[in-house]
Amino acid sequence: MAVNVRRELEMVARLQHVDSQLKDLELEKGDLPNLVNKLNDEIDKRETEVKELEDRLAEIGKQKRSNDGQIQLLRMKLEKYKEQLYTVTTNREYDAITAEIDTARGQMESLDTSQKALIEEENLITLQISDLGDRTDEVRSELGERKGELGSKQEETEDEENRLMHDREKLAVRIKKPILAHYERIRQARSGIGAAHIDRGACGACYAVVPPQRQAEIRKMEDIILCESCGVLLLPEAEHLDMESELATGVSGES
Ligand SMILES: [Zn+2]
Repeated sequence: MAVNVRRELEMVARLQHVDSQLKDLELEKGDLPNLVNKLNDEIDKRETEVKELEDRLAEIGKQKRSNDGQIQLLRMKLEKYKEQLYTVTTNREYDAITAEIDTARGQMESLDTSQKALIEEENLITLQISDLGDRTDEVRSELGERKGELGSKQEETEDEENRLMHDREKLAVRIKKPILAHYERIRQARSGIGAAHIDRGACGACYAVVPPQRQAEIRKMEDIILCESCGVLLLPEAEHLDMESELATGVSGES
């Protein structure tokens, strides 16, 4: 057999070890990265809301100016009609002008009503914008704090993370592709665990019992054996594996 299974399994075991350390570092940062993203989203959302409200305010302003213009015109018209009333000579003329006056007054009233509604809406929106502004400021200051925390946590762990990432890359290129692919697929599905040692006769990932015959095969390391229950690559107990020598000579020291 061309593939040295023992060697593959030892490298997979090391890779799992590195991945577990990387995951611990991730956990140390806790919910902070998530929280920072959430706060950013919230600020974006509020800024969009404010923008929409401001657009509506601009529209209201336009509408109000147009109403004002029409009201001015109607006022002038009414003045003119009233003057004309003094100079009418017939009832028909009088009726015609009073009808015009009524129409103009009706139009003025409806413009007034619309104007009042617009002003009310304008006041409400102005309040909403100022409210949103206050809340956005609060979120911004929280975001600032959280970013600061995250930054210092990242600084603390950066070196170790880089070192582990480097080890990870070195190991990953040396593991046979199908084995690595299986490991990665299971690791992603099982929140970080793609390979597990047998632990007191059970799979170290899902604790399903591994029959003694199977355990013996796993310890021989002649075949890749998967947990029938959760799919992880099963590794013998740590003492059966050489976890150090090749890492020292082959991985960390290779660059
Ligand atoms: Zn399992």
